[in-house]
Amino acid sequence: MGFLSGKRILITGIASHRSIAYGIAQAMHREGAELAFSYQNDKLKLRVKEFAMNFHSNIILPCDMAQDDSIESLFSKLVNIWPTFDGFVHAVAYVPSKQLDGDYVNAVTREGFVIAHDISSYSFVAMAKASRAILNPNSALLTLTYLGAERAIPNYNVMGLAKASLEANTRYMANAMGKQDIRVNAISAGPIPTLASAGIKNFKKMFSYYKSVIPIRRMVTIQDVGNVAAFLCSDLSAGITGEIIHVDGGFSITTMNELSLE
Ligand code: NAD
Repeated sequence: MGFLSGKRILITGIASHRSIAYGIAQAMHREGAELAFSYQNDKLKLRVKEFAMNFHSNIILPCDMAQDDSIESLFSKLVNIWPTFDGFVHAVAYVPSKQLDGDYVNAVTREGFVIAHDISSYSFVAMAKASRAILNPNSALLTLTYLGAERAIPNYNVMGLAKASLEANTRYMANAMGKQDIRVNAISAGPIPTLASAGIKNFKKMFSYYKSVIPIRRMVTIQDVGNVAAFLCSDLSAGITGEIIHVDGGFSITTMNELSLE
């Protein structure tokens, strides 16, 4: 029996087998969770259906995080299958690609700012708002963030602001949902090649730089993130809420390129 046996968890944000959400589904399935999946649009439906089958699930529901009625409809359909459930993983982010290229002040626009915050931060609390009534006590909600929320990182630009908002969102949600015995946490993942990260200019160069300085001397994987996600959505982490846990091989604790000094 795995440590998520008896838990029903909804996973958003699978777009490919490289998606962080895919690694999370692998770990949660291994630990015995029953899983449901949402997909952004019809283009992804078949792919997500196949992935879901690998995890012994036939629950796949559409949800465009840009639309409140789509988020509400996700949970009104889910409740017909699962009258109650034990948490969800929010692994969704979006900003138009022009925002992730070059000088932040030149690149940012009002529209880019609004979209980044809407899809990448607001949608997390929107999901909590729409599902609150059917979440069991002891539920856990989880989102994915990045170091660009804390530090100015080249080309990450307005997405860094959206992630800072998402991290504050995590703390405010944890405070509000605690009285319902629901925990809310975030994982700050190191860089991982996915469809989303491919949109960041010079991501490959950034990836090589990380490799040269990261304390654990290897890049983190979707399995590394998945294992911590499974823990954070389980009763093993019952005392943790409102936290941003770095799963980045220790990169965020470094200040200097050690290798260049050797
Ligand atoms: P990914 O491209 O595999 O997943 C991003 C997902 O967001 C896709 O499934 C896409 O369909 C979904 N999405 C975008 N707009 C949406 C909308 N309007 N409605 C519904 N879904 C929508 O990339 P990923 O890297 O696995 O990203 C997952 C999360 O992890 C994101 O929040 C990302 O910022 C975060 N993250 C990624 C990295 C990295 O290096 N890959 C590092 C830290 C944090």
